[in-house]
Amino acid sequence: MLAGYAVHVEQSRGRRFSEASHPYRNDFQRDRDRIIHARAFRRLEDKTQVFTRRYSDHFRNRLTHTIEVAQITRTVAGALNLNVDLAETLALVHDLGHPPFGHAGEKALDAVMRSHGSFFDHNLHALRIVEDFEQRYAAFPGLNLTFEVREGIIKHSRDYDAAQHPELAEYLLHQRPPIEAQLIDLTDEVGYNTADIDDGYEAHLLTLEQIVSSLPIFARFFRQAQETYPHVAEKLKFNEALKAVFNRLTSDLITNTQSHIERAGINTVADVRREPERIAGFSPEAEADRKQIKAFLYENLYYSPSLAEEKDEAEEVVNGLFAFWLENPSALPRNYQEKAEQESLPRVICDYIAGMTDHFIVEQYEKYCGG
Ligand code: MG
Repeated sequence: MLAGYAVHVEQSRGRRFSEASHPYRNDFQRDRDRIIHARAFRRLEDKTQVFTRRYSDHFRNRLTHTIEVAQITRTVAGALNLNVDLAETLALVHDLGHPPFGHAGEKALDAVMRSHGSFFDHNLHALRIVEDFEQRYAAFPGLNLTFEVREGIIKHSRDYDAAQHPELAEYLLHQRPPIEAQLIDLTDEVGYNTADIDDGYEAHLLTLEQIVSSLPIFARFFRQAQETYPHVAEKLKFNEALKAVFNRLTSDLITNTQSHIERAGINTVADVRREPERIAGFSPEAEADRKQIKAFLYENLYYSPSLAEEKDEAEEVVNGLFAFWLENPSALPRNYQEKAEQESLPRVICDYIAGMTDHFIVEQYEKYCGG
């Protein structure tokens, strides 16, 4: 039962190269499956989300984070009668363009590209992966995804200026994306805000006292857990409280988006696209909680001295390898040397590095930079 404002797969603008329809999967389901079978998707397993394997084998990596975001997205999209297939596909693809070493790797890659008059952007990189780098099919380059999935890859987390990005003109940059795409940035936040509290606590980088005293929303639910389960282990009370935070943010996203849809009289995808602001979002109260959690994690986890060393290492590895291949392009794999005949060498090196897993880039660094 899709709502009128949901994307209907029969109305898709279609693929770049036309294909016969599939007997039992619709086009968005096929796109989801193509992403799951992509090499870049498998590599997410060995890309840092926040913690490297040095900390633990059971912390989130970019693949498990992606699976968690897909789970939250399916729930929210289903509750809003949106197109769950499209929303799930966009969740599964949302981190595909991330380089190794999490945000430290992304910052380092962007900085070095800026010194060459360009930049690195993970959404644009994800689009290049699905359009060009994935070579799986004899009939066409890339994954030949539907317009709505490619549009969502670009527009799920932010708006791009049409004047600055003429190459993205086909993606209707002056319009809002469908609600299925708008959800992803928010479900992503619900996912990592709660998961990073969990992993940070398990890594002993965040203490229970610190979390309780800094986050009133967590403190309230933790007190409730203590009253309901006075005799269970602290970690189980912690889990109950964190689950309640997770549920509160997710439920709020559903109810607040639903009331925005009703208030604004949104009935069709065209209405969604025409709105000046995004429709998916938290209520002011939940938004304040979200911001507070995020600020807490930045201050106490992402920028903590314990993780600073790994960030410096990430920067050193990215910069070292970039400089090496710039000096020695003949040490690049043959297909990248060929690409460098069409594109600038810094862009080719950037693409190569961005695709690497944490493990592979360290191996390359040791091989070429004697790290
Ligand atoms: Mg993410």
